[in-house]
Amino acid sequence: MRSELHPDLRWRGNQAVLAGSLLSLYRRLDAAFARLGTAEQAPEVMYPTLLGAAQLAKLDYFRSFPHMATFACNLERDPDNLGTFARAAGVDAQGAVALTRLAPVTEVLTPAACYHIYVDLAGQVLPAFRTVTTRATCFRREDHYKPLERQWSFGMREVVGLGSSEDVKAFLERGRIRVDRFLEALGLAVAWTPATDPFFDASRNPKFLAQKLSPVKTEMVHQDRLAIGSINFHRNFFGETFGIEHAGEPAFSGCIAFGLERWIRAVLDVHGPDPAEWPDIAAAAQDAFGE
Ligand code: ATP
Ligand code: ZN
Repeated sequence: MRSELHPDLRWRGNQAVLAGSLLSLYRRLDAAFARLGTAEQAPEVMYPTLLGAAQLAKLDYFRSFPHMATFACNLERDPDNLGTFARAAGVDAQGAVALTRLAPVTEVLTPAACYHIYVDLAGQVLPAFRTVTTRATCFRREDHYKPLERQWSFGMREVVGLGSSEDVKAFLERGRIRVDRFLEALGLAVAWTPATDPFFDASRNPKFLAQKLSPVKTEMVHQDRLAIGSINFHRNFFGETFGIEHAGEPAFSGCIAFGLERWIRAVLDVHGPDPAEWPDIAAAAQDAFGE
């Protein structure tokens, strides 16, 4: 369905189709944030779309965010089960598939880009501060959807740093200063706002209470309503969970995360729908993230 927001946007009810000028803007924004990674000597890595449920379980993800998970399911392979499914082979009025027995579900569609990085580094000793950048299509079930703002699937670019607590804090602080310079060059402004993750049953979750007491998440809030990115200090949570070591201790880590569709939304809000009026993203990235 065409969206009134922009002629190059189509809306599928919970996910966006980007074409033409918006696809080009998406790619240029992503390249700009990858450049922030380059400024931090972060190699780029591309991870698969599926993430092991057992890995997420180690993070207590299913206890903390059961409402957000999207599972990758297959039908159990036995011919009777497949035959029953194939004969019905239909969807109901809501578009729901009539599933028969499922094979064990062992994979989840990636809910955040950075989890793959800790899984990848599991069991390693990091001799020095380490950075990595990646982009992922992320999947989160939300209670409502809105084009370019709240989608079931959306693009996330992250730059992650791991090492000592001081190194990670300095990395996040440099990131914040660079992002501010980038925003200024683009003619955008955000309010940096402490936030907590959207925990399920928050009042009973010790992690939520810990985040309330000592904020570890700062969001880039556009026009007082839309978080277009966040800076997160994880303490040594991922280092402990995945056995990543630095200087004889579980590594500390932090990430700088950008919601790519939401950045498009911010550009459209401030500069309008005409690409001729949009700022030069590459030049702004050069200003903000170039050496
Ligand atoms: P929110 O509180 O707005 O749901 P979050 O705190 O869960 O976001 P993060 O985990 O910090 O989000 O994810 C990094 C960025 O990804 C967010 O700042 C946002 O820009 C983007 N993002 C998160 N969820 C969505 C979504 N459902 N659709 C589009 N972008 C999203
Ligand atoms: Zn992250």
